[in-house]
Amino acid sequence: MTIFSKIISGEIPCNKVLENENFLAFHDINPKAPIHILIIPKTEYKNFQEVDPKIMSEMTQFIQQVATFLGLDKGGYRLITNNGDDGGQEVLHLHFHLLGGAKLSWGHLSDSDPKNHL
Ligand code: AMP
Repeated sequence: MTIFSKIISGEIPCNKVLENENFLAFHDINPKAPIHILIIPKTEYKNFQEVDPKIMSEMTQFIQQVATFLGLDKGGYRLITNNGDDGGQEVLHLHFHLLGGAKLSWGHLSDSDPKNHL
């Protein structure tokens, strides 16, 4: 069980933004931007690579609702999901980071030598 499952069950509190039957949006405890929201499905999927693609349509709709609710739809925002070890994923329950509230920078993301692929 991850910390996000405990948030869903109410065992651990969160600063909730929006919720429906299947999804929950809450403020990240360690914000990386003026607005930093985590959006999670209530069903536990390890990450984006393992989610049932059918759920993504409904999840996309919920993410759009959260962005609109926070007024980020007008000025823009960034949506990130860290997938697996190399992706920097720490909590093994699918989540999207919704970041905004300022013009976000975009820099080099790697601090190590590239791995060989293919
Ligand atoms: P990731 O590295 O993509 O797995 O991101 C996990 C995120 O969860 C980090 O940005 C953490 O700050 C955030 N986080 C961890 N515990 C909590 C919590 N109890 N409430 C809100 N955010 C949390």
